[in-house]
Amino acid sequence: MEKAIFYKKEENFVKCFACNHKCSISEGKKGFCGVRKNIDGDLFLLTYGKVSAEHIDPIEKKPLYHFLPGSFSYSIGGFGCNFLCPWCQNFEISQCKKSFCVKKRKPEEIVKSALEYSCPSISYTYNEPSIWAEFVYDISKLAKKNNLKNVWVTNGYFSEEVLNFFMKEKLIDAMNIDLKAFKKETYEKYCGANLKKILNSIKKAHKKKIHIEITSLIIPNLNDSEKELKEMAKFIFSLDKRGEVPWHISRFFPMYKFCDEKYFITPLEKLKKAEDIGKNEGLKYIYLGNV
Ligand code: SF4
Repeated sequence: MEKAIFYKKEENFVKCFACNHKCSISEGKKGFCGVRKNIDGDLFLLTYGKVSAEHIDPIEKKPLYHFLPGSFSYSIGGFGCNFLCPWCQNFEISQCKKSFCVKKRKPEEIVKSALEYSCPSISYTYNEPSIWAEFVYDISKLAKKNNLKNVWVTNGYFSEEVLNFFMKEKLIDAMNIDLKAFKKETYEKYCGANLKKILNSIKKAHKKKIHIEITSLIIPNLNDSEKELKEMAKFIFSLDKRGEVPWHISRFFPMYKFCDEKYFITPLEKLKKAEDIGKNEGLKYIYLGNV
């Protein structure tokens, strides 16, 4: 474990500001994500260098279709998450509460591997990058020195402080950001998160000229009403007012806690309907995923 950067000390606790939960963590306790702990009045990242998965993925799998198309991205993920989504497709690592015995990786090893396999970018993916931002930062700095791009696949709950810290050195080149719903209740009930903060983060990242693509997993009867899809599309259009921010509409497959008979695979017609709605709202680039 490593001492964290993104926190400040208060009288009886530490305040983490890596993500928008801004947890107040008392002595001996962990934050909401389960990977940042107050030890003797300092905050430590328990998962520094603990890589849960490491792959060479097509960049289109992130998914990013308008950023280094046709290239491979050296992709790494860690453990834990700052969301609790019951449909998570990576729940084995994102909701893992145990400390796994994994091979530790150093930032220079990750960069060396990316170069060895001729990947022009490194993607921080599979779980939320901001919760182990210190490790991501150390890799990103080295990656930049070696002319590699840095890509975040994120739920959009990174804090403004983290975004500014990285962007002072232009250390994030592209992001795929989830927009899971457009109802505040859905984010609160299922993810333990706040919709407004996500929309703000998306706007801020776009303003900082990071290449942005948005992904929405369409779950039957959860976020697939015409009204909600229209609101999502309108918001995405509002980012550049030209409709050039790509929208990935992804098909849901029953998974994790969302896998009893109530839940079913998103019908293809529903995805096509969402595509039509997006086009009507002016979005030029809409891609169906998981089909
Ligand atoms: S990263 Fe987010 S969830 Fe984790 S301790 Fe910090 S503020 Fe809390």
